[in-house]
Amino acid sequence: MIQLFLPLNFLGFVYREIRRALTDLENMLGLLTRKPLISDKANAQQLNIQHADIEFKNVNFGYHPSRPIIKQLSFSIKAGSKVAVVGASGAGKSTLARLLYRFYDIDSGEIHIDGQQLTSVTLNSLRQAIAIVPQDTVLFNTSIRDNIAYGRPDATAQDIDNAINMAHLRSFIDSLDKGDQTLVGERGLKVSGGEKQRIAIARAILKRSPIIIFDEATSALDSHSEQAILKAMSALASNHTSLVIAHRLSTITDADTIIVLKEGQLIEQGKHDELLKFNGEYARMWELQQKTA
Ligand code: ATP
Repeated sequence: MIQLFLPLNFLGFVYREIRRALTDLENMLGLLTRKPLISDKANAQQLNIQHADIEFKNVNFGYHPSRPIIKQLSFSIKAGSKVAVVGASGAGKSTLARLLYRFYDIDSGEIHIDGQQLTSVTLNSLRQAIAIVPQDTVLFNTSIRDNIAYGRPDATAQDIDNAINMAHLRSFIDSLDKGDQTLVGERGLKVSGGEKQRIAIARAILKRSPIIIFDEATSALDSHSEQAILKAMSALASNHTSLVIAHRLSTITDADTIIVLKEGQLIEQGKHDELLKFNGEYARMWELQQKTA
């Protein structure tokens, strides 16, 4: 028996090594085909925020040249207003947010903030001007308070307490034995998706950026949690220019403008009531979500 086991075991080892080598090769090729890393132009200027008006002009973008994702997209977000982006899964909603934060450079067209093209300003000044509330927030293995303070390292105790209150985290924190000193993250308390998103909102409040990108979590939240997030979000959005990537239409009925994306193209734009009257794709999505709610 052992005579058979050893060669088989050896063959298993060889097979695993070959698989690993192939995976490494695949990863390496993946790296080679990825777009170049974004960096500052030699003459890049600091972004000078006056009002935080945003404009996308005929933007085209694809992660790979053979597959366009955003096509001839134009829209503007007036300073202080809230624009929501909706559309089917894969329509390009999150890609828009990535382009505004300049994770990638666009293939053609222009994106402006207060008249300055994203590619002509420093990455650092651009990213200081934008706070992102992502779908899934990374929590460090430290206290909730430190996790929130991460939004602005020089925040005062008063600033952090204000952010906790505005993000509707106070009653959750007060319910914990160690309050805001409770450890969270992989080795600490597991917090729910809704609580995590409110921690991200508190961080964004502390960052005090004039522009907010809010990427709504796809996973369904219970209505209590959703209400708490909506309240926290509206506290964050007041006096800010905000771009909300929405999955549940019920959360963005108050948006100043709603953009409906289909396969990377803008197919409808307007306020909730206007789009319902228009009786197109948005109205169809609304009806569908009402039935499944
Ligand atoms: P969802 O509602 O499911 O979050 P979405 O509308 O936000 O979808 P995006 O995440 O913007 O869609 O993706 C748009 C398209 O781009 C999808 O077809 C997706 O597969 C593709 N895509 C997204 N990220 C990448 C990437 N890093 N590399 C290659 N393709 C990508």
